[in-house]
Amino acid sequence: MVKVKQTACSIIRKSLIYKTGVEYGDYTMNHIQGCSHGCKYPCYAFLMAKRFGKVDSYEEWIEPTIVENTLDLLTEEIPKFKDKISTLHMCFTTDPFMYGYSDIKELTLSALKLLNNNDIKCSILTKGLLPKELITLSPDNEYGITLVSLNEEYRKTNEPGAAPYKERLASLKYLHDHGLRTWVSIEPYPTPNIIDQDLRSILEAVSFTDKIIFGRTNYSKVISAYKDNKSFYNEQANIVIGFCKEKGIDYHIKHRTITSYPDQTVKKAEMVTLDENAQSIQHLCKNDNHFAKVFSMIGSMTYQPHGDAYDFLIHEIIEQMISQKAGDKIYNKLVSLCGGKLTVNSINSVSDNEVHSIGTSNSKIQYIRNLTAAIESGNLDFDALQNMPDSEVMKKLTSLRGIGNWTAKMYLIFVLDRQDILPFEDSAFLHSYQWLYNTNDTSPTKVKENCQKWHPYASIAARYLYHALDFGLTKEKIEFFK
Ligand code: SF4
Repeated sequence: MVKVKQTACSIIRKSLIYKTGVEYGDYTMNHIQGCSHGCKYPCYAFLMAKRFGKVDSYEEWIEPTIVENTLDLLTEEIPKFKDKISTLHMCFTTDPFMYGYSDIKELTLSALKLLNNNDIKCSILTKGLLPKELITLSPDNEYGITLVSLNEEYRKTNEPGAAPYKERLASLKYLHDHGLRTWVSIEPYPTPNIIDQDLRSILEAVSFTDKIIFGRTNYSKVISAYKDNKSFYNEQANIVIGFCKEKGIDYHIKHRTITSYPDQTVKKAEMVTLDENAQSIQHLCKNDNHFAKVFSMIGSMTYQPHGDAYDFLIHEIIEQMISQKAGDKIYNKLVSLCGGKLTVNSINSVSDNEVHSIGTSNSKIQYIRNLTAAIESGNLDFDALQNMPDSEVMKKLTSLRGIGNWTAKMYLIFVLDRQDILPFEDSAFLHSYQWLYNTNDTSPTKVKENCQKWHPYASIAARYLYHALDFGLTKEKIEFFK
């Protein structure tokens, strides 16, 4: 029996609907602050709320606060966004059906009704229970649960306030049985040093659903400590792909869950931690109070340079001139077409027609073939690039058709981990730059002049700006205090 709870407090917000940068999202809203599910993976939404000063502690986070003026805001904002939204997702930084909370459930249902009455399709993701009343709403809505295990002990430790797995699954099945479209997010999936489990049993349990999303756990030292985590995630992703293909279920493998090690790789790089003791961070904070503010919001960061040069370049070629979301979709299909790994051999084994059929343009197919031929002929040697100065790497890479300055700079930053690259050709970087300096002047001359103070750590500053964008920080005006 679910214990019925009520939120103790409420807050007033100035706005609600916004465009999300999350991989599979379109527009989103978060009409609750905090989340009683209290996930300990950790929950990125909690970490960000803490950094932004919205909550002081985990204890405060797990006491949710409702946005009291949700319906008024929606009434005001719907006419503005109506024609732009293809799907409105609830929620990325909280949960729309927190386990046991009757007032949150009622508010979410009212918000859904209002949105649906204005022909806005909604998508829901919860670790709570999907209420039966949902069958009375628009049949276009999609309903999902997160399910990373079937082991209740794991749930109690890692998602202590969330609904038990069996109940969660039963609520999803009920909606499926009533003809609604359902989906499951298997993310963040744990490695065997956290729990030894069989992914197939989870897949079997959700085999009735229409779509499965699978993703690794990011930003976790425990995961990184698992020596074979990359091959583990490659294997698990392939299990998901194979299962979904066999059952005719749609699937999406989250960005960077699959990595591959083809014949030609750069050396596998170590994890890098940037914190207040890092020379680069000290330099950037001392010379740029705008960067110092971003660092105070994001805090320390751990990253691992991309270990697979060939895979990286193909991914970047695919993403040229299209959105990251569309690029990821095509890239994942290509990986799957190549049997889970992008290698010279696997790329050579697929025909141009097959690559074209998954959405790759003919010119990009040609670029991928050129890159592959350059590796085969020895004209491009990833090991040699590692020892070249930045300018030589740029020269070498841009001599290949289809690789321009932008791709070469991304390679320098994300594969070779070069420290002083300013990616002023990149629209995502410029978007974040505009937010940070509250400016519309993104001409190369002005950006170079303004970012001179980052030298010799422009790449590190850029990493923080990408991070700010990825996690939605750039949606709110940055405040500077004297
Ligand atoms: S359900 Fe989502 S928002 Fe809530 S604590 Fe867990 S990860 Fe965070």
